[in-house]
Amino acid sequence: MNDFKKESDDLRSKTLLAMQRVSESGYYLLGPELELFERNWAEKCNVGDAIGVANGMDAIEIALRSLDIGPGDEVITTSMTAFATVLAIYRSGAIPVLADIVPETGLICIDSVRRCLSKNTKAILLVHLYGYVTKMNDWCSLSISEGIHLIEDCAQAHLSTYRGKSAGSFGAAGAYSFYPTKNLGAFGDAGALITNDNNIAKFSRRLRNYGQSERYHHPILGLNSRLDEIQAAILNVRLTYLESFTWRRREIAKLYNKHFENELLFPLEEPADPKSHSYHLYVINTNYRDLLASFLDRNGIQTFMHYPLPISAQRPCQNIVNDPAGLPNATHHAETCLSLPCHPTMSDAEVFKVIEVINKFRV
Ligand SMILES: *Cc1c(COP(=O)(O)O)cnc(C)c1O
Repeated sequence: MNDFKKESDDLRSKTLLAMQRVSESGYYLLGPELELFERNWAEKCNVGDAIGVANGMDAIEIALRSLDIGPGDEVITTSMTAFATVLAIYRSGAIPVLADIVPETGLICIDSVRRCLSKNTKAILLVHLYGYVTKMNDWCSLSISEGIHLIEDCAQAHLSTYRGKSAGSFGAAGAYSFYPTKNLGAFGDAGALITNDNNIAKFSRRLRNYGQSERYHHPILGLNSRLDEIQAAILNVRLTYLESFTWRRREIAKLYNKHFENELLFPLEEPADPKSHSYHLYVINTNYRDLLASFLDRNGIQTFMHYPLPISAQRPCQNIVNDPAGLPNATHHAETCLSLPCHPTMSDAEVFKVIEVINKFRV
């Protein structure tokens, strides 16, 4: 699924040089590499500010807390996402409310979100699952008409754009993860939030550093959530490869969509605009998931599932508030989804091997 060892010598040597530069600088936290990365990432996303934090989950929590969302407030999100999305809501003190998904995309369903609204709803946390950013006009209209914040979980959507605008730039703030396997990944944990709102930027810079405004002064109770200089330096190097890596992912997805011929499986919706999908994950649905996964495994092809359990099935979430109409689509997706290899280091031969094996699958 992720073959980092196949990355180029060029990338490896530039990364090692960057690490050495940090080691010799004597500056390990909140220094020039982070400042440079924040500028680079804000520019890439075409927003006013990027604030580096320790990981993607913290980026969500800090975004929520910067908007003064906390105990008693409800935040609506999808039942089909990484657990970190929902854990970040809990960590802010707010209450997560789970909406169902659209079967064709796996993304949160707007009608379901409408059913989840209450007088306590403060925000919608939209997850651009697998990297797909779509229907942003509808989400922006809903957030305006209901007077609630829109926050974007962009942990899987680096460089995805909708009508030219970057993931994370539609609502109050966008949260990115640079976990090693994400489309832009560090050599460990890292994350960032992006925003066009100066107050959110200022508040989140304080929150990530114990709530400190200036040395010795802590007007708010913050976190310890800084992005290390060494990780920022690595990200500054890897960022220069991100465009080409992302196009390679899109190319692989296009080949899959074009050449898969097997009635036993259904790829998710292919976007009309390739730029609206970063293909962090290429996901199909099949009623024969376990059989297909073991068939692929026997043919040397690794797969994962994103995600085999909806959030509502996780133990701490048993009593969570859900869409009153239930979560049938998320539950079905959890039982039928399979993620196929879609990594920029894959060769054409490897991509066509996957296609050949998929097309041979029978039950
Ligand atoms: C990876 C991920 C996160 C969490 O990011 P971390 O950096 O691992 O904390 C949050 N949401 C989604 C959708 C993710 O894929």
